[in-house]
Amino acid sequence: MPELPEAETIARGLDGLVRGRRLLAARCLTKGICERSAAYPVGARVAAVARRGKKVLVHFDDGTTLLVSLGMSGQLRRRPAAPLPKHTHLILKLGGFDLIYVDARRLGRLTRSRVATTMLAPAVEVAAWCEARLGPDALEVSWREFRERVGGRRGAFKSVLLNQRIIAGIGNIYADEVLHRAGIHPKARPAALSRDELRRVHRATKVVLNKAIKACGTSFRDYVTPTGASGDFGYYLAVHGREGCRDCGTEVVRLRSWPGKGSSTYYCPRCQPRRDSK
Ligand SMILES: [Zn+2]
Repeated sequence: MPELPEAETIARGLDGLVRGRRLLAARCLTKGICERSAAYPVGARVAAVARRGKKVLVHFDDGTTLLVSLGMSGQLRRRPAAPLPKHTHLILKLGGFDLIYVDARRLGRLTRSRVATTMLAPAVEVAAWCEARLGPDALEVSWREFRERVGGRRGAFKSVLLNQRIIAGIGNIYADEVLHRAGIHPKARPAALSRDELRRVHRATKVVLNKAIKACGTSFRDYVTPTGASGDFGYYLAVHGREGCRDCGTEVVRLRSWPGKGSSTYYCPRCQPRRDSK
């Protein structure tokens, strides 16, 4: 699932590609996945493409924002020469080329549906929606905010990092990488850790995410940048998805289906010993 570095890579790539271009036409091909064609602000120009947490925001200069949750397999990309990719749900005709939204598994959303993970709405509404559901961005969160929001939590550290209302942008892969870099066990409780240990997690968050952005994210199933390239960060992962720890070679422990169904947690028992339970 795209996390902050992938969403950032997509937003930056798209910004360079579509900023200043006028929307000439919009075609929704799949009802329920995107807003009906007539709802798009035809005639408006793209003012900027931004990111908030794991979400991509396309701002138009008429004050409309398209908020995109890429779900598990959503892609927002330039339409290739031909043919139109399977599972294309939306075509935005911009001066020069088409921007398309492709999603094979249909978990992404471009409407204000029940799950409302994505929508086309006035920018102020989208901002309020984000404000109500997303904590400070993981790349921006200050040490003070981090300590206040995370410090007293009694849940497992990894679950806390995954909670978008506490801090936005971190998902399964980077939560493992951040905790490994900080030397913290994924089940350690933030409330039981020292100030220094918390500080290490805060620092590791910035370092790991910035490195991943530099590498254009992690390549995994279905993820591509707007130009169709894949990310490089997979080569740099220290613990997630590995058999041996990159730093010490110790066999990595895999907790299947924890903390959520279908996702696994990886940690190095040597670099990340459990201390808080003693
Ligand atoms: Zn290790």
